[in-house]
Amino acid sequence: MVQGSPVLEIALDKIRENSARVLQKCKEKNIDVVGVTKGFSAMHQIVSAMVAGGIQGLADARMENIIEMRKRHFTNPITLLRIPRLSHVNIVVRYADSSINSEITVMKALAEAAQKMGRVHQIILMVDLGDLREGVLKENVFSTVKQIIQIPGLELIGLGTNMGCFGGVLPSVNNLGILVRLRQAVQEYLGIGLNILSGGATSSLLLVENNTMPKGINQLRIGEGILLGTDTTNNRIIPWLHQDTFRLRAEVIEVKNKPSVPIGEIGQDAFGNIPEFEDKGIRKRAIVALGRQEVYVEGLIPLAKGQKVLGASSDHTIVDVTDSQYEINIGDEIVFGLNYAGLLSASDSRYVKKNFITGENYGS
Ligand SMILES: *Cc1c(COP(=O)(O)O)cnc(C)c1O
Repeated sequence: MVQGSPVLEIALDKIRENSARVLQKCKEKNIDVVGVTKGFSAMHQIVSAMVAGGIQGLADARMENIIEMRKRHFTNPITLLRIPRLSHVNIVVRYADSSINSEITVMKALAEAAQKMGRVHQIILMVDLGDLREGVLKENVFSTVKQIIQIPGLELIGLGTNMGCFGGVLPSVNNLGILVRLRQAVQEYLGIGLNILSGGATSSLLLVENNTMPKGINQLRIGEGILLGTDTTNNRIIPWLHQDTFRLRAEVIEVKNKPSVPIGEIGQDAFGNIPEFEDKGIRKRAIVALGRQEVYVEGLIPLAKGQKVLGASSDHTIVDVTDSQYEINIGDEIVFGLNYAGLLSASDSRYVKKNFITGENYGS
C-alpha cells in the first residue's frame, strides 16, 4: 500500500474504555450489552478492544464481517443484525449463533439448514414498534411466535426492536414498554418464556441514564456510543464516554487565496447537484488529497478551530482555512473527526490506511 495519508487513526484504549463504561452503566440496570461491529467493518483490532473492555456478545449486519471474525478466532456469541437473506441461510447458521428475524419463510429455511448441520439456530423475533424498518407488527407477534416454536432446528430466545433508524422514532418508556408487555402476554397466554428483550441501540442508552428504561429490557446492541461517544438520534454527546476515538488525517496539496463564488455560468457539479455559494470575498482555501472516492465527506469535521469544509469532488476536498487556528501550508495535514457515516465509509475504504494506537501515544 502507498505510504502516508489519508490515514484513519484509531485509539484502541479509548474504545476499550468506552466499552467498559457502557457495560458498567447497563449492568447496574441488569442490561447486557452486545457490541456492534459493523461501524468499523469488524476490524479485528477494534473487536479485540471491545472484548478487552468486557463485551461478550458481538453483532454485525454483514456475513463477510462475521466470517472474518470467526477466521480471527473470536469464539464469542455472534448475532446477525440484518434479517437474513434466503440465499444466505447456510452461512448464517454456520457462522452466527443467532439472527434477528421477521419472515417465517426465512426462519423455516434457517431451520432446515440448521438441522442438516445438526445445529440449533437462535432467533430474536423483531417487533416493529413504529420506526417502520424491520419487524412484525405487534398484533402479529402471537401468531408468529406460535409458528416459530413449532419449527425444529430453531430456538426462539427473545423479542427485539429497532428505533431511530428509518423513521427516526425515539425509544421511549411507551414503545419499549410494549415489548415488555408482549413478553408477559406470550408467557401468560402461550406459556412460552423468552429470555431476551433487546431494546435497541445507542439511542436507547438515554433511558438507562435517565433511569426510565422499562424493567424487563435486558439487552442493548451498541455501536455508535462505544465507537464515537455520540448518540446521533438524540443529537447529543454522551458525556461519560470518549469522543476522540477516531481521526482522519489528509495531506494538503494546494493552498491559495481565491474568490468564494465561482466565475462563469453555473451548471451541475460532478455529482449532478447545482451548487450555491455565498460571497464572502477572497478566502484562503486548502485542498487535501481526499475525496468522495475515499470517504463520505459530509461525515468529516475538521478538528482545528476556524477550519470549514467547503465541499468535495471525487478526489479533492476543499477546506476554508482563512480563520484557522494554525497556519496551513503545502504538505501539512488537516485532521478530521468523523461521525458514524464518516466512520462507516473511512473504515471500509481501501484508500484510507489504518493506524492503531494504544497507550498515551495519541497526539493531536
Ligand atoms: C446498527 C444496528 C445497531 C447498532 O446501532 P448504533 O446506533 O450504532 O448503536 C443495533 N441494532 C441493529 C438492528 C442495527 O442494525
